Amino acid sequence: MLGEIRGEVRFKEPLSFHTSLRIGGPADIFIVPQDIDDIRHALLFAEREQLPVVVIGGGNNLLVRDRGVRGVVLKLEGCLGRTEFHGEEAVAGAGASLSALIREAAALNLGGLECLVGIPATIGGALAMNAGTHDGSIGDFVSAAYFLYPDGTLGEFKPNAGAFTYRAFHFPPGAVLIGCRLRLARRPLQEIQKDIKQRLKVKKATQPLALASAGCVWKNPPGDFAGRLIEKVGLKGKRINGAEISSKHANFIVNRGGATAADVQALMELTRERVETQFTFPLDTEIRIIGE
Ligand SMILES: Cc1cc2nc3c(=O)[nH]c(=O)nc-3n(C[C@H](O)[C@H](O)[C@H](O)COP(=O)(O)OP(=O)(O)OC[C@H]3O[C@@H](n4cnc5c(N)ncnc54)[C@H](O)[C@@H]3O)c2cc1C
Repeated sequence: MLGEIRGEVRFKEPLSFHTSLRIGGPADIFIVPQDIDDIRHALLFAEREQLPVVVIGGGNNLLVRDRGVRGVVLKLEGCLGRTEFHGEEAVAGAGASLSALIREAAALNLGGLECLVGIPATIGGALAMNAGTHDGSIGDFVSAAYFLYPDGTLGEFKPNAGAFTYRAFHFPPGAVLIGCRLRLARRPLQEIQKDIKQRLKVKKATQPLALASAGCVWKNPPGDFAGRLIEKVGLKGKRINGAEISSKHANFIVNRGGATAADVQALMELTRERVETQFTFPLDTEIRIIGE
């Protein structure tokens, strides 16, 4: 069944090559599908062999543990990468780049998604995470999401209230997101460009964009900022081997070179402990942790 896959199939592929943190042990079987049929073949193979499946997009929100991932890793970045525009709607494949979609929409005088600018993501990863900022998340714009169930059949989901919550999309467990429809709004290109420029300027000034990271490690607790709490407990700049709590933004952990997942997790444990002791409530992770 693997032989029917027209995309790439690799064994023992280091996932550090596929994560923005540049950390992660090998995937037993690593598949970059070429189309929906390839995804189906991969899912059916995994089901037949009773192997777990992990889907990844651009790997921008992932901490992969050092011993890697058993079973199948499906990487959708680049596969299903098309976006089409119909009136004020975009229909995007799960592997399309979020930033490319925002740029292409702007060129057609279509805006709305400016609040998502600067978030490194595939559309699938952005949907799964309900990626966003303080003034909007992708779920606010989704009119339909499309996915494959683990048995390879197609599903459509019309988001209802509660489908998208803070950094989460509650879609059927085990499903692979393959695309979505997004509602956009007419806006002149120049206005969009000005807005984007301003937002990117703020990101650049406040986030350690030149260093390898996975964005914010922790969700913000209600009414507060995880970064502020981490700073308050004196951990800004704290380093364990190659991993460091960014001195620019305390909710980011950066890889200064040679960091392992164990180093990042040790920093996370320390943070969790200190914040819980001082502020008496638990921090919840925003990054997704996978592997052994
Ligand atoms: C410098 C930097 C800045 C960032 N800033 C922000 C920010 O402002 N706001 C924000 O929300 N995030 C931010 N992030 C985090 C990250 O960009 C987002 O979470 C993004 O949505 C991840 O997309 P991805 O394609 O890389 O997904 P991945 O990291 O590959 O995957 C994320 C999760 O989605 C699941 N997934 C991915 N694709 C699919 C699919 N097709 N079907 C089913 N499940 C899938 C994965 O299993 C995983 O659980 C930042 C990250 C970095 C490195």
